[in-house]
This record gives sequence, structure tokens and C-alpha cells, in this order.
Amino acid sequence: MITATEVVAGVKSGNISCEELVWRIYERIERSELNCFITLNKAAALAEAREEDKRRRKNEREYEKENGRKKLLGVPVAVKDSISTQGIQTTCASKILTGYVPPYDATVVEALKREGAIILGKTNMDEFCMGTSTETSFYGPTKNPHDLSRVPGGSSGGSAAAVSPAAGEAVLALGSDTGGSIRCPASFCGVVGLKPTYGLVSRYGLIAYANSLEQIGPLASNVSDAALLLEVLAVKDERDSTNFSLEKKNNREKEGVKGMKIGVPREFLEGEGVSPEVKKAVWNAVQRFEELGAECEEVSLPNLNLKHALAAYYIIAVSEASSNLARFDGLRYGLRTGKDEDWHTTFSRIRGEGFGEEVKRRIILGTYALSAGYYGKYYLKALKVRTLVKNEFEVALKRYDLLATPTMPFVAFRLGERIKDPLSLYLADVNTVPVNLAGVPSLSLPCESSGAGAGVGAGAGAGKLPIGLQLVGGHFEEWKILRAGLAFEQATTL
Ligand code: GLN
Repeated sequence: MITATEVVAGVKSGNISCEELVWRIYERIERSELNCFITLNKAAALAEAREEDKRRRKNEREYEKENGRKKLLGVPVAVKDSISTQGIQTTCASKILTGYVPPYDATVVEALKREGAIILGKTNMDEFCMGTSTETSFYGPTKNPHDLSRVPGGSSGGSAAAVSPAAGEAVLALGSDTGGSIRCPASFCGVVGLKPTYGLVSRYGLIAYANSLEQIGPLASNVSDAALLLEVLAVKDERDSTNFSLEKKNNREKEGVKGMKIGVPREFLEGEGVSPEVKKAVWNAVQRFEELGAECEEVSLPNLNLKHALAAYYIIAVSEASSNLARFDGLRYGLRTGKDEDWHTTFSRIRGEGFGEEVKRRIILGTYALSAGYYGKYYLKALKVRTLVKNEFEVALKRYDLLATPTMPFVAFRLGERIKDPLSLYLADVNTVPVNLAGVPSLSLPCESSGAGAGVGAGAGAGKLPIGLQLVGGHFEEWKILRAGLAFEQATTL
């Protein structure tokens, strides 16, 4: 699959016809068995691409002046269905929002358009971002492009699968990550995904699941493309009070990992359930970093009890969700069934029919955790654990430039294997959720493939299942993480 940088250069010079590129991608999407998209933006995207080509042909010099600086000129981008797009259905993969067409764009979508990107459509995901496999979608699961019998990870499964070179259904994609939803599918699909520092990317227009944890971020087939997309997304936005502009904080001049100190926290590798092949892949990656000149060292984070972090995450996430999802009542937008009766009956019926099982489970759990009498026992306690987790990361990231861990404890599992046992899905998030509790940035990039695939996948690399490496950095140090990721990627053939 062509990279975003190649598309921008090609469209600018006229070597690539934007319309043809977009057309070819839609052909692949329409033939695909992966179910990456919920809604396509085909007519508008093709018209936009045609316009782009026309503008360039009409007056090349003017064109260069106007468009020469656009960072994503002509790049086809897929957008997760949790992010509002003006005029394009946005469902969050829920029945309750079927037919909902937002009257405005999320800040990140405005940024994409301003930089010349072409919006391909809205990608499949776990309903309201709640899940680790994209199986809770009302629109059916997405499949893993490396093995159609397996999950792509979640909740941004459609976005990750689409940018996988094995699928080729988008050049770049947006995901959102509350507890791993960008990094998990990146790991399972063998692509690059970045969860930015909390506050770096505006959440205006993101349908909220757990506000204090989530961030929108890039998914791409390679590190440079992810960095390019992050640059576009990290704009100052007054409409999100937690948004933080950074510019000066990053030193982008340096290259490579020479002299970088990388800590490898034992807790992430020795927890129960980490598969031997994942452990081996991470140690091999650490060795590669050493060969590239980094100083790597095993470390213990004694105050980071992963089991407690996982429990705290789930209590905080469901508590915030139970409050956030109260707004979906079908009265102003979304699903409206049957005839109106008294408010309580109508409200209960619409929510009963509109929400899926996992979403209901979490609303009930969250309401319980916040109720008088239990608030102190669960929610407040979880906030205390959160502070411990945050402090422990801060201490470790003073000593080390980066921490390296497995993104997921294992490779992509089979469709249907875990969905009936929610707890087994929650446990899969053990390495990703502490990062959201601490608000630090983290990248997942492919480091190896395992031979465990069934060999029935689509396209290149079929039969091999990717393994993701997670690189965690200090607040606002995404460029350091990306720099390490790029050095690793350049030294690795998968
Ligand atoms: N799997 C986690 C959850 O269900 C994380 C999901 C996410 O990051 N949106 O909460």
C-alpha cells in the first residue's frame, strides 16, 4: 500500500491521480470481507478527489501556492465512527444512534479537511468504544486481515484493519483510545497506532465514553505516516478545555536511539497470561534497540500493581460511561421506536432496545459504583489507585526516556472465543490501561509475527499473526517515542 507521504508528493506533482487512487480503494472496500466500514462517503469523496485533480490541472502555479503546504493533500483517510462528521452518519456502532447525522465536524475532522485529506467513510468499532475485539458492534464484527477467523482487536478494529497493507482499505485512519483502543487493534493487525498524551488532541466532537481517559490518535501502516497524522491532529482548540498546545516541548531534530535509556518493566512481561512468543518478541526488540545504541535495562515498578490498575480503570471507565451515556434517550436524535407513552416508559424502551448487552452491563456497573454507599468503596478508591499509577510512571520516566512492554499479552484471538466471557476480554487490556490512567503517550508498532495464524487471511503476510511492541514516554514526549519507533522500524524486516 502506498504511504501518505507518497500520496502527498504524487498528488502535488500530478504523478498520482487522486480520483483514481480513491476509486481503487473503494473497489477494494466493496470487494472486502473484512467489514471495516459502517458508512461510506463514496460520492462526496470521489467528487472531492476529482476536484483536487481538476484544480491542479487548471493552474499548476496557483495550485502549488495554495496547496503546496497541505500536509495530507489527497490522502484517503478513514474515520472511526465515534468521531463526529458533518453530513455523514455517525453511529458509534450502536443501534441507538443509527441514522444520526451530526450537524458539525469534530475538531480533528476539520483539521483533516483543512490539510487536504479525503474522508473515505466511518469505520467499525466496538459499540461506544466498549470492547477489545470489535465484536460488540451492532453492525457485526470486523475481521482480522491476517486471518479472517480472528478478531482485529478493538475498539478501533475497523480503522486498524483498514490501514493494514494486507487490506489496503485506507492510507491513514483515526482511532480513539480510552484504555487501549488504538494500540490493541494496531498490535493485532500489525500496524502502527499512537495514543497521544491526554490533552494533546482535541476531543471536541468525539462521542464520549470516559472523558478523563480518552484521546483521539493516528493509525497508519508505518511510523512516519503516524507522525504526519499526529502533527495534523495536535492543533490548539478552545472548544476542549483539556486541550494543550505543545509545539516547543518536542525536540524533533534528533534522530535514532543512540544514548536513549529504555526501561523494560518486569511487571508487564511476567504477569500471568503473557504468551511465551510475545515475551520472546519483546526481548528480541529490546536487543535490537541495544544494537541501535540504546541502553536497555530490566526494571521493576513496585507500586504499579497491574491487577489493581486494571480494576481501577474499569471502575473509572464505567462510572464515567454511565453518566455520559445518559444523554442517549432517543428524544432529540437517534433511535425512536414504538409510540410515545410517559417519559419513563418511553426512555426505558428506547434505551432497552437501542443499547447492546455490553453497553448495558457497563451502565449498570457504573451506576452501581457511583451510588451512595458504594462511591467511596469503589470510585474514590479507584481514583487513589490511579494516582499511584501516575506517580509510578512519572518516577520511572524520569529515569528512562522510554519504557518498552508488550502491547497485548497475546496475538489476535478467534472471533467468538472470548465475547461470552467479558472478564477474559477485560483482562486482555492489562498492559494498555495503566497508560491511560497516567495520561502519558504510547505507541504500538509491529515487532514480530508469530506462526500461529490459520493461513486463510487476505493478502500479503497471510497466516502470520503480528505482535505489537508498546513504547511509553513521558507527558508530551510523543516525538521521542516516534523517533525510537522509526529507528526500530527501519532496522526491522517483518
Ligand atoms: N477495552 C477497553 C474497554 O473496553 C478499552 C477500550 C477503549 O480504549 N475504548 O474499556
